[in-house]
Amino acid sequence: MSKDCIFCKIVNKEIPADVVFEDDQVIAFNDIAPQAPVHVIIIPKEHFESILSVPAGNDIISHMHTVANRIALKTGIAKTGFRLVNNCGKDGNQTVPHLHYHLLGGRPLLWPPG
Ligand code: 5GP
Ligand code: ZN
Repeated sequence: MSKDCIFCKIVNKEIPADVVFEDDQVIAFNDIAPQAPVHVIIIPKEHFESILSVPAGNDIISHMHTVANRIALKTGIAKTGFRLVNNCGKDGNQTVPHLHYHLLGGRPLLWPPG
C-alpha cells in the first residue's frame, strides 16, 4: 500500500469504483473516463509503481493477463477483438503510478495509437 496512491485507495475501498472482477491478487474496475465501450482497468492489489517494478519470478503479470481474458470473454469483446495496454513512465503516458493494464474493446481501435 502506498499512502497517496489512488489505485491503492480503490483496493482498500477508501474510494468507490465500479468493480467488475476481484480475487486475492487483483481487482478490475471500469475506467472513470472510458475511451471505448469496454474500458476496464486491471491492477494488482500489491502496489508496484510500474511494470518495471515487478521482480523476476513474480507471477502477477501472467495472472493479470488471465484475468483480462476472463473479462474479455465475459464482456463479449473476445468475439470482436480488443487491446490490452500497459502505459509505462512519462513517454508511455502513465498517469497513475500503480501498475495497471487497460482492457479496451467494443469499437475498432486505431493503430498506431499516437
Ligand atoms: P494511465 O494513463 O496511468 O495508463 O491510466 C490511468 C487510467 O486510470 C486513466 O484511464 C484514468 O481515466 C483512470 N483513472 C484515474 N483515476 C481513476 C479513478 O479514481 N477511478 C477510476 N475508475 N479510474 C481512474
Ligand atoms: Zn498503489
